[in-house]
Amino acid sequence: MAAQCSCKSEKLIVLACAGASNVGQISNEAAKRLDAGGDAKFACLAGVSGAISGIVASVKGADKLLVIDGCPVACAKKTVDAAGISGYRHQVVTDTGTTKVHAFQLEEADIQKTVDACRAKLNT
Ligand code: SF4
Repeated sequence: MAAQCSCKSEKLIVLACAGASNVGQISNEAAKRLDAGGDAKFACLAGVSGAISGIVASVKGADKLLVIDGCPVACAKKTVDAAGISGYRHQVVTDTGTTKVHAFQLEEADIQKTVDACRAKLNT
């Protein structure tokens, strides 16, 4: 049997709304952890909304793109849609059971639920 290469050659990118609430900041923290864990490269959503050509091209060139929003308002999703980007995976933090509040003290368990949900979506 031939040996299989386990290295990742896919270009995986994650974007986060990083909004001004606990769930917005959980989206940001989850994206940081996915980047640190080698799951996906964290890219700048503000660069997409600002139509920065290099960032938009990089995001469009991803083999898999994951967009994380804190809540169903879905600002990050609407930003990538407006940039003409499609075919991405989408995770909403409140869908994992965390309630949105205007506070920035994050619970580790809430972050981990979102990271786990994101990893599951990246693996589909
Ligand atoms: S998706 Fe929700 S948490 Fe994120 S920036 Fe928009 S309103 Fe704020």
